[in-house]
Amino acid sequence: MKNDTLLVHAGRDPQAHRGMVNTPVYRTSTVIFPTLASYEDRKKQGDKFVRYGRHGTPTTYAFEEAMARLEGGHKSRVVPNGLAAVVASLTAFARPGGHLLVPDNVYTPARRFCEGRLASWGVRTEFYDPHLGARIAERLTADTIAVYCESPGSQTFEVQDIPAIAAAAHARGIPVIADNTWATPYFLRPFELGIDVSIHAATKYIGGHSDLMLGVITAGASHWDAVHRAVDDLGYSVSPDDCYQGLRGLRTLGVRLRQQMENALALARWLQAQPEVAGVNYPALETHPDHALWRRDFSGAASLFSVELRPDFAPRLEKLVDSLRLFGIGSSWGGYESLINVVKAGGSRSVTKWAPAGPVLRLHVGMEDPQDLMDDLRRGFAAASA
Ligand SMILES: *Cc1c(COP(=O)(O)O)cnc(C)c1O
Repeated sequence: MKNDTLLVHAGRDPQAHRGMVNTPVYRTSTVIFPTLASYEDRKKQGDKFVRYGRHGTPTTYAFEEAMARLEGGHKSRVVPNGLAAVVASLTAFARPGGHLLVPDNVYTPARRFCEGRLASWGVRTEFYDPHLGARIAERLTADTIAVYCESPGSQTFEVQDIPAIAAAAHARGIPVIADNTWATPYFLRPFELGIDVSIHAATKYIGGHSDLMLGVITAGASHWDAVHRAVDDLGYSVSPDDCYQGLRGLRTLGVRLRQQMENALALARWLQAQPEVAGVNYPALETHPDHALWRRDFSGAASLFSVELRPDFAPRLEKLVDSLRLFGIGSSWGGYESLINVVKAGGSRSVTKWAPAGPVLRLHVGMEDPQDLMDDLRRGFAAASA
């Protein structure tokens, strides 16, 4: 089945729910069983067994099933947010003396978890150049517990050569974890590229409406038990209402992403032509250094990219951002509305340098008419220069 069809049909079974098109919200902590034997009989009921709310309800399972099918993995677990997915995926493989490889441009709270709590558990994190590709082989040791990837980086947008990294890691039996939030399963099928554990901040495009915190971990069959166990041990559970919203977001993910990609490309191309702009970091642009990798592995691009302004623009940056009317100033992305934020050039890198031409803005392009968004930016540039 193609992605668009899966988005509509995965994770729902109307006849199992009195004909309801959508899997209803089952709110519960406790489930009542008719007999003691049926309470104990987990095996017979398999994956759909519902014994206690923390483990999930039919709403949870519907969302998990839809995500696993979209990702092309064995099974999925829903967790409270994207960071919880990062934490659970790393906890699944953590052991004292373990060595973990993490890209230097990684989402900052993930870096903090590695440098803090994982270190206290005896795991040594080595940060690597996201462009290392097959040369990751030189960094693998007998103690390497996993290679973590995030492609593209969510502020600087380097694309990683995931198949090359996976080939090197798998040659030594090491699993590859990837944060697939930017692409979503709609634009990147992680297990086809060799990823063993895929994580998402479903808070972003999957929720799609800036009103949901949600995360998902999907694993291949050989790593499922480790991931499943980690989520249980961490005590995560997710409200069935939020799982319902996750499922609801999936139904329109394709149309939203296609439109937002079109809008983002129009804006990125327009920005490239502006005198205030030194460069646009968006892998979907032919001028991006990783464009060929992106074209090979992704079937589309999310609507999040960054823009490097000319260095002399620095004193006017705040005026530009404050004068915009359609771009909200705020964290997160993936909703239907446009957002803008400032990227700190130094970031939190430790082994690679990123030296942008000047101040950097990150834009999330929503579903507004791109002409209106361009007009807003044009007005902003004019106001900043006045
Ligand atoms: C936002 C984000 C996360 C964390 O997701 P939350 O739901 O905000 O916890 C993880 N990874 C990436 C790449 C993100 O952008």
